[in-house]
Amino acid sequence: TRWVYTFGGGRADGDASMKNLLGGKGANLAEMSALGLPVPPGFTITTECCTYYYANERTYPADLKDQVAQGLKKVEEITGKSFGDPANPLLVSVRSGARASMPGMMDTVLNLGLNDETAEGLAKLAGDRRFAFDSYRRFIQMYSNVVLDLDHHMFEEILDEHKERLDVTVDTALSAEDWEAVVADYKKAVEAELGEPFPQDPHAQLWGAVGAVFASWMNDRAKFYRRMHDIPESWGTAVNVQAMVFGNMGETSATGVAFTRNPSTGENRLYGEFLINAQGEDVVAGIRTPQALTKIAREEMGEKQPSMEEALPEVFAQFKSVVEKLEKHYRDMQDIEFTVEKGRLYMLQTRNGKRTAKAALKVAVDLASEGLITREEAVMRVEPASLDQLLHPTIDPGSPREVIANGLPASPGAATGKVVFTAEEAERLGSAGEAVILVREETSPEDIRGMDAARGIVTARGGMTSHAAVVARGMGRPCVSGAGEIHIDMKSGEFRARGRSVKEGEIVTIDGSTGEVLAGAVKMIEPELSGDFATLMGWADGVRRLKVRANAETSLDARTARQFGAEGIGLCRTEHMFFDPDRIAAVREMILADDTAGRKAALAKILPMQRQDFVELFQIMEGLPVTIRLLDPPLHEFLPHNEEDVAAVAQATGLDAAKLLRRAQELHEVNPMLGHRGCRLGVAYPEIYEMQVRGIIEAACEIAASGKAAPIPEIMHPLVSKGEEMKFLRELTDRVAKEVTAEKGCQIEYKVGTMIELPRAAIRAGDLAEYAEFFSFGTNDLTQTTFGISRDDSGRFLNAYIEKGIFEKDPFVSIDTEGVGDLIRIAAERGRAARPDVKLGICGEHGGDPASIAFCEQVGLDYVSCSAYRVPIARLAAAQSAI
Ligand code: ADP
Ligand code: MG
Ligand code: MG
Repeated sequence: TRWVYTFGGGRADGDASMKNLLGGKGANLAEMSALGLPVPPGFTITTECCTYYYANERTYPADLKDQVAQGLKKVEEITGKSFGDPANPLLVSVRSGARASMPGMMDTVLNLGLNDETAEGLAKLAGDRRFAFDSYRRFIQMYSNVVLDLDHHMFEEILDEHKERLDVTVDTALSAEDWEAVVADYKKAVEAELGEPFPQDPHAQLWGAVGAVFASWMNDRAKFYRRMHDIPESWGTAVNVQAMVFGNMGETSATGVAFTRNPSTGENRLYGEFLINAQGEDVVAGIRTPQALTKIAREEMGEKQPSMEEALPEVFAQFKSVVEKLEKHYRDMQDIEFTVEKGRLYMLQTRNGKRTAKAALKVAVDLASEGLITREEAVMRVEPASLDQLLHPTIDPGSPREVIANGLPASPGAATGKVVFTAEEAERLGSAGEAVILVREETSPEDIRGMDAARGIVTARGGMTSHAAVVARGMGRPCVSGAGEIHIDMKSGEFRARGRSVKEGEIVTIDGSTGEVLAGAVKMIEPELSGDFATLMGWADGVRRLKVRANAETSLDARTARQFGAEGIGLCRTEHMFFDPDRIAAVREMILADDTAGRKAALAKILPMQRQDFVELFQIMEGLPVTIRLLDPPLHEFLPHNEEDVAAVAQATGLDAAKLLRRAQELHEVNPMLGHRGCRLGVAYPEIYEMQVRGIIEAACEIAASGKAAPIPEIMHPLVSKGEEMKFLRELTDRVAKEVTAEKGCQIEYKVGTMIELPRAAIRAGDLAEYAEFFSFGTNDLTQTTFGISRDDSGRFLNAYIEKGIFEKDPFVSIDTEGVGDLIRIAAERGRAARPDVKLGICGEHGGDPASIAFCEQVGLDYVSCSAYRVPIARLAAAQSAI
């Protein structure tokens, strides 16, 4: 087996496509060498060797020694130096390099091959004793720390003692003799610690370092990082051994890092830092302040120290052309490490640079405009979920944060406002134009209007799919949920957390992207929806097949949805329209009615309000499809629950308190989610659905009569499970629609369909399609009913399932493509068999989740529907799944 791949001298055994075998660093070093770029020669020991090492009780393959010797020989030939030879010593770096960049891995060892003799040789050869011993002391410290596992503080203390003795503060003030003395003390300290001298044999040093890289694959940091980023343990790491070049050989030597474009803004301008007379990690270590690469960057920063462009103009010009070449070659923004030795440039690493969402967008659009990539490739370059960062105001990363409490990042974005503890107060202050943050133990459907009026929401209890989290995401309100540290004391009008108290009316800021609650007002950055964002979204729209609609019931949501590019409403939940204080009285009256006549009388009061809701939605949606779901929750959700509330309601509405309480108790259900809800309301009390259908058709007639584009309402019946149920509902709908159109003398096109949210509905979809013209998969409930897991209670045990690897992801966040997915596949197939043009969509939380959207594309659904703020994410994810 071939374990060793060499690179250097204008050629290489490997190339960039061999990341799995050579690791990212090794593959790109090979690629750069073959491109003829100045790369110090070296060789890569493969990841397969690492796999062998772990499969064979941490031993090496028998032929590795020979292959390494061959590799080393090649490096010696190219450099004209020889490893361990005091007359002309070759020094190397030993660098780890997995397939994916892994900050948890071993640190690099530089200057390997130095010992007492080669250090003297290097001093003579370079004509620079100070440089030689500066390199030697660096090597002893790095090797001892990384390979021998000695604490680096020990070395720092020794160096500090010397500086104190010499009465200097900076490393650059130490002379050759000073470094020699430091080296002597370092060696003594190592021997005292280990009971044996610092290894002097360069080959022993090399194998020590190689072993340390392989061993580091299993250190705790690396394991933790792999777990966090889903990197399989089986991958292994490669080891790169590379001839040293020296950035610490005086004023014409330097080391630095660069991005070909700005990684936080995406601006097309070389960005980075360098240090004169320095090595390796000095740039990031913060010992000295690094200098800018370009003159313009230096001027912008108001820096005094010269930029690389000014200090080393010739090598800078060469560097600039090399990095331009690299970017063109890799067709992406590059993150680059380089060193200059006595005016000569060397490239030490390149990779596609990590970037913010904003930069990703700009770089993708720019690269496509520059003709380097296609528009489709540009669409693939942006992570859909990352758009979230761009759609909400966010906290200025430069501003200080004083954290009061921590919770879950339930809904992204940031908001500042006065603390309030009740939905009523939020509504009162909110409608007066005040910015408020609603802080609650947890929220319930009655709080909707208060949540809408608040700029942000904090709950002490509840998970990522709690009521507060789902509703807040839908409204685009930032939300921190499950902030268990917060204790609300309604009596004293304050909350306490971490020993501090925050009174009602005090200003706080919440960051729904991190889950933090912060003291005071913090500076924000507003979202930018034009420019690159609009351009990329336009490209995405050009390639996607799936339509994207929004879940929206208020005019505000509907407007936001259109602004974000929604092509209709996929779910309008009518019950949210009933919590309005003006309406809930009539709703309660309807619930309390003793007979059908009483219910009808109360419903007649609701009808005009309901009609007006639809008129507004239809107007905003201008002829786009609007799917309206008829009343879904159990009726008792509209009633007060305890005696105190009952008394208050009775007083406010004139309804009879005893009757209210009795009715609430009558309606109580043991398991309301599987109780008298959904179309079961429409079957038991047809007059409710009749009123709603009437409202919808009357509204459509009103729009048509005004000469505007008539909407195509899609009337959706929830929680259907049987063909006969659907037949009943279809007949009810058609009958009322016919009545209304006859009365108004107008023609309205409408569709009747159902939500598929029960396993039986999916399996018997053929029966339903006889009467239903469309299906919308209500995957929140479908997931709940398929697993038999209550969405509201899953937070208590789901984590244990995820930790134990039983669930890979929360099935309420990303669709279970196997179980729930099979039901959807079956329903689509059987539905289409019965009615070939049945329209299929999805309207659960999954409609905005990129992985779930890819699934929807696969199954061939017609559209996805998600909360307004996720519409752009869905558009991009739909495009990517179509490419
Ligand atoms: P990391 O993955 O942590 O960035 P690297 O292996 O890239 O580790 O090494 C870190 C730094 O060490 C490089 O950026 C470079 O400055 C320096 N370095 C590595 N190899 C060499 C070498 N052969 N010659 C000079 N400097 C080197
Ligand atoms: Mg590094
Ligand atoms: Mg590096």
